[in-house]
Amino acid sequence: MAIDLGTANTLVYVGGRGIVVSEPSVVASDSRTGRVHAVGADAERMIGRTPATISATRPLRHGVIADFDITEEMLRYFIRKVLDRNRAHPRLIVCAPSGVTEVEKRAVEEASLAAGARRVHLIEEPIAAAIGAGLDIAEPVGRMVVDIGGGTSEMAVISLGGIALSRSVRVGGYEMDEAITRYLRAEHALAIGSQTAEAIKIAIGSAVALQPEETSEVRGRHLITGLPTQIDLRSEEVRAAIGGPLREIVDAIKDTLEQTPPELTGDIARDGILLAGGGTLLRGFPELVAAETGIPVFLATSPLTCVVTGSGQALDHFDQLSRSGSARGRK
Ligand code: ADP
Ligand code: MG
Repeated sequence: MAIDLGTANTLVYVGGRGIVVSEPSVVASDSRTGRVHAVGADAERMIGRTPATISATRPLRHGVIADFDITEEMLRYFIRKVLDRNRAHPRLIVCAPSGVTEVEKRAVEEASLAAGARRVHLIEEPIAAAIGAGLDIAEPVGRMVVDIGGGTSEMAVISLGGIALSRSVRVGGYEMDEAITRYLRAEHALAIGSQTAEAIKIAIGSAVALQPEETSEVRGRHLITGLPTQIDLRSEEVRAAIGGPLREIVDAIKDTLEQTPPELTGDIARDGILLAGGGTLLRGFPELVAAETGIPVFLATSPLTCVVTGSGQALDHFDQLSRSGSARGRK
């Protein structure tokens, strides 16, 4: 079994079956007793709508575990959901962002073992994304992967099956949503929730000018009257609002390229940059990266699933991975 434990979405792949779970990484639990009410899509619908005693939280922040107990509950729920009882202790590959520290890696492993895994092996996210996108990573050829998730953006250069260099910034899709929320408060005195902000981004957000530009009706609460209000929001406004986080991401991509040894840069310039992760689905994002770097880019066929697919393909090599000594098992 392979799990892509993302800040925004958790995906589970089972050998021989393919992707069996794809749900938001959200848990709704009772804040007094800790009892879990819902996990995944059901829990996400509760965000911003829970009574005082229930809280719907995302246990990961910026790609790392922020709430250990809730992450464990979530992993346990998804592992149980896909396995029958007599096989409840699977071998597990979990995908971790390349920037995580040893302590953070340990936390992912501990949560997986506590959730019922028999053995767990961590695979680095850019490697998984590249495998999932069908690249042959074993060759002595430089490949660059950019993965934009909910709370992190990862850039990595891969060669000979390993990471030659990587960089991670704690800016992703959520920072764009927050920027839209701030813009609406400041410019339209309108308060909106996080799901509305994300919906606006997906509907009319873009990284480059749209032809033609678009507008969208946005409902929220007027900050002064306190009453429900509706405005027409233009795509140019959304683009300006998300400009800050987009700039940070593009700068990090350029920085990574500048630090890349010339032989590898030559390979990347010839073959292009692989884009993965939900954030790269923002309209015009590939065009913006190509224009800013002067290097061609290509979007993974399925940006939201290529990490878990690649991790799943790595399952076939689990024994090899385990022999390398980095897998951990139950005591
Ligand atoms: P993670 O790996 O952190 O769980 P994902 O790769 O699942 O993240 O991507 C989730 C992010 O992608 C969210 O911030 C979401 O808003 C964003 N996203 C998904 N689809 C689109 C889209 N069509 N346009 C812009 N952003 C999108
Ligand atoms: Mg991801």
